[in-house]
Amino acid sequence: MTTEHRIVVLGAGYAGLSAARRAAKIKGVRVTVVDARAEFVDRVRLHQALAGQQVPRADLGEVLAGKGIEFVQARVERIDTAAHRIRLADGGTRCYDTLVYALGSSGDRSAVPGATEFAYSVAVPEDIGRMPALSGRIAVVGGGATGIEVASELAESRPDLPVSLISADEPGGWLSAKAHNHIRAVLDRLGVRVRADVKVAAVTADGLELVDGERVPAETVLWTTGFGVPRVAADSGLAVDPRGRVLVDDELRSRSHPDIYAVGDAAVIAGPDGRDLRMACATAIPAGTYAATAIAARLRGKEPAAREYRYVFQCISLGRRDGVIQFVHADDSNARTVLTGRTAAWFKEQIVRMVGKVAQE
Ligand SMILES: Cc1cc2nc3c(=O)[nH]c(=O)nc-3n(C[C@H](O)[C@H](O)[C@H](O)COP(=O)(O)OP(=O)(O)OC[C@H]3O[C@@H](n4cnc5c(N)ncnc54)[C@H](O)[C@@H]3O)c2cc1C
Repeated sequence: MTTEHRIVVLGAGYAGLSAARRAAKIKGVRVTVVDARAEFVDRVRLHQALAGQQVPRADLGEVLAGKGIEFVQARVERIDTAAHRIRLADGGTRCYDTLVYALGSSGDRSAVPGATEFAYSVAVPEDIGRMPALSGRIAVVGGGATGIEVASELAESRPDLPVSLISADEPGGWLSAKAHNHIRAVLDRLGVRVRADVKVAAVTADGLELVDGERVPAETVLWTTGFGVPRVAADSGLAVDPRGRVLVDDELRSRSHPDIYAVGDAAVIAGPDGRDLRMACATAIPAGTYAATAIAARLRGKEPAAREYRYVFQCISLGRRDGVIQFVHADDSNARTVLTGRTAAWFKEQIVRMVGKVAQE
């Protein structure tokens, strides 16, 4: 019988790997990471993968073995919270003393009729894998950061494909005027046809139907708005929000099951002003690290230090040669400083490399 404290981390994305790396440094613990995938693929580079670029991948077994962390490749089906046991789709089980829930998110196309059938998400690596070769007119739906990055990357890498960006709001409209004007100018330069302030009513085999009845013909529809999270937490009886994200306290422990920490996109994490933090690796990585630090403190019989967190900037790539870095205040509101052009592209690339090191070092 083991006397080691068993920490099991569900999910080897940015949040889970950050938590596991920090947890492995705690004396007297055994850390196991469970993920359905064999490889870590940088989600923040998915739009590059979509545009046909090679993106770094890392074998999770190798990465984690080097850190003394056990890796189990299996899909998690359920948490038996009373028995402290995880049920896996391959029939296996794993027992835990402390659990870190970091199962991330995926695309959700259920909001509009026909989207599930005729549109493709760009949210997880499997989305790119199941997409046929891109051809014809491309309609990217959603003017958030992912939609902007997808439309600009495709327009730059695949000038043979006419790209339009369809959005209910101005693309990047939540950023400062300088930042969103720059986004608009670059999309124009790259030949992306922007349709802002329009709503999609349905997706069909040959394009989009807008609420005013207009049709936007497209051979390929890429759906970048809306997300879902795995059902595991809800199905296992954890307290969740209406989307299925785990509700946590200030220490990132499940409100219903305090021996379970939840981090990353799969948790509702409050920022300094009480508002939910963004679903971003900029949230997932510090949250994962903090959860493991809190677990370490609890195992020493101490109260964890309060979680302190603030964003410094928001980065959006506009192809490989341009971008926008919007600096933000402590409350995540826009500051005056904005970087654009090649400097911003270089800056974002450095951030993405740094983020990718969560799996590569
Ligand atoms: C195109 C694109 C660009 C982005 N750009 C940025 C950016 O520039 N900056 C930024 O901050 N954020 C960006 N994001 C958002 C960012 O990728 C996510 O917020 C981040 O990945 C969340 O990290 P996570 O660890 O919570 O989840 P993930 O990274 O999604 O990791 C979750 C892990 O859980 C595993 N998993 C899920 N379900 C199961 C199961 N049932 N059993 C076993 N394993 C399971 C998955 O295989 C995965 O490895 C971008 C997202 C996209 C799609």
